[in-house]
Amino acid sequence: DHALKLEKIVKRYATATALGPVDIDVQKGELLTLLGPSGCGKTTTLHIIAGLTAPTEGRLVLGGRDITNLAPPYRDIGLVFQNYALFPHRTIAQNVAFGLRMRKVPKPEITDRVRRMLEVVGLPNVEERYPSQLSGGQRQRVALARALVIEPSILLLDEPLSNLDALLRKRMRLELRDIQQRLGITTVFVTHDQDEAFEMSDRVVLMNSGHVEQVGSPETLYDRP
Ligand code: ADP
Ligand code: ADP
Repeated sequence: DHALKLEKIVKRYATATALGPVDIDVQKGELLTLLGPSGCGKTTTLHIIAGLTAPTEGRLVLGGRDITNLAPPYRDIGLVFQNYALFPHRTIAQNVAFGLRMRKVPKPEITDRVRRMLEVVGLPNVEERYPSQLSGGQRQRVALARALVIEPSILLLDEPLSNLDALLRKRMRLELRDIQQRLGITTVFVTHDQDEAFEMSDRVVLMNSGHVEQVGSPETLYDRP
């Protein structure tokens, strides 16, 4: 059961080909990780899925719908970046509510969904605080809540743990994976950290020089030479 298909996606810049052609299938409910060294094309792939970068060639199909030419707000995608990008002068509740307000969801429903999503990510009772009053790990969870509260059909995570210290990063791996599995949300995760990829993923896509080298479960990839 495919949630998302990348079909022969290519990204060329004037100076070089950054990506492809790549074909990637993401199954419903799985956490698929794009793993590879700096410059291999992970971010480009994720940005193409999000609609932040237009592919030079190829097609994207999400839930059976061709989204190749859809603008980002119409793609039904939740995004979490490396640097959280929370609004510093808005409360946590306002930060999480952002996507729901854009979608003109009624206010009482917003309040309710924001509270429930903050509970899901393990942050009850922080609605009225500001981002600066939270720790790095807590801010990361707020960013996750903000991405998930719109109930997207797919979640994209771009090195979401890389700004956290080593200990917290390890704990957040398990937490993130737990939240992902509880919600059953289809997720594409980008990292250059092999341990992180192997610990968290259903399947790993190994990328190198703009190409997919191998795809498999952590178990099947573990024994590779
Ligand atoms: P990764 O996320 O795996 O580090 P990227 O997707 O950022 O890799 O980059 C893939 C390749 O595309 C790299 O060689 C990078 O230098 C190149 N690239 C990315 N963005 C641009 C751009 N705007 N112009 C030219 N080349 C780019
Ligand atoms: P990171 O891997 O830390 O996320 P990126 O490699 O994605 O950083 O680069 C950050 C920005 O620089 C992106 O907007 C990307 O498109 C741009 N970029 C990356 N490589 C190149 C390049 N070779 N030429 C021009 N722009 C680039």
